[in-house]
Amino acid sequence: MLTLIRNAHLVSPDVEMENASIIIAEGKIAQVLPVAPESFSGKIIDAAGQYVMPGFVDVHCHGRNNFDFCDGDAEKSGVIIAKKLEEGVTTLLPTTLTVSKEDLKKAVKAVADAPKAKGCKVPGVHLEGPFINPKCCGAQNPGFVRTPDVAEVLELNDIYPVRKITYAIEMPGAVELTSALLRKGITPSCTHSGATYADFCAGHAAGLRNLSHFCNQMTGLHHRDIGLVGAGLLHKEVFAEFICDKLHISPAMIKLVFQTKGPEHVVLITDAMRAAGMPNGNYTLGGLPVIVKDGAARLAEGGALAGSTLQLNVALKNVWEVTGLPLKELVKSSGYSAAVALGLHGIGKIEAGFCADVVFLDRGFRVTRTMVDGEVRFEA
Ligand code: FE
Repeated sequence: MLTLIRNAHLVSPDVEMENASIIIAEGKIAQVLPVAPESFSGKIIDAAGQYVMPGFVDVHCHGRNNFDFCDGDAEKSGVIIAKKLEEGVTTLLPTTLTVSKEDLKKAVKAVADAPKAKGCKVPGVHLEGPFINPKCCGAQNPGFVRTPDVAEVLELNDIYPVRKITYAIEMPGAVELTSALLRKGITPSCTHSGATYADFCAGHAAGLRNLSHFCNQMTGLHHRDIGLVGAGLLHKEVFAEFICDKLHISPAMIKLVFQTKGPEHVVLITDAMRAAGMPNGNYTLGGLPVIVKDGAARLAEGGALAGSTLQLNVALKNVWEVTGLPLKELVKSSGYSAAVALGLHGIGKIEAGFCADVVFLDRGFRVTRTMVDGEVRFEA
């Protein structure tokens, strides 16, 4: 069965085209045309001039709609996986927290058992912790921090693929862990870290090319030791996850990072916790009480930011407003850069041969329709 999307304002990496037509066959993009074909037999979707972009990729998301992947409940995990479509996400890495060994297994098992047929694609999980620096926990529970242990990662990887892991590169055994992960095709990423620039370089030599929630819970830029923030700015090839809710990162820093690294090495993430898609109020993160006020999630004790309530379509709108860069550049950060960083092929572009993972947005960046493999799975 063929599908034609016509009258699209197409935005894909390095391409922006009004009145475009997209033909989908067998779940893949078959053809992109500058005008509508004269005749067509199959399903026709009129985009009515809306933005049509590659589906978003969120590699760092703990929850939504009052559920958290660390609840360890397959049905609840399935709800998050389906609800992410409402913000235009078509590929998701459910992200865990620093919890006990037993709870981590339960969370990964719940993702494995979660219903996914009506949701976004889940190529694997992202483990945030538990091998972080206990001095840089932020909203991670210090009670469950442990030293790097490749056996624990491989045990989890047997339950459901681990695609990415966030840890502190200065911890004992972390450089060896980096090499071991790469051998298994798992993307190593550093944060919740007090690493010096020399620590980063040791990790970089072992293949470290990712920094999780860039600027947050990592060593800042100092002129005698440029730390992890300096490392991310200096090493352009390093992918930097970025929480662009304008709370975690100031608009000036957003501009600086996009200007220095370019959108192809920035990965927009939500780092959303369970309050995303929910009203302000009292919630928890990793068992710690969190208060959400004016959309900002903070630990009840100490007030550290505790994840976000950000949605990926809003993140894209924010960086568009703040940087003034063209959308055909910024859509690299909402999908393609994450795909490259993780080695996921065939996603992040609307181009012949790519998966037909497509999001439709109105001019206010509200998601009106989300397609996965050519199937409409969400319609507003
Ligand atoms: Fe974090």
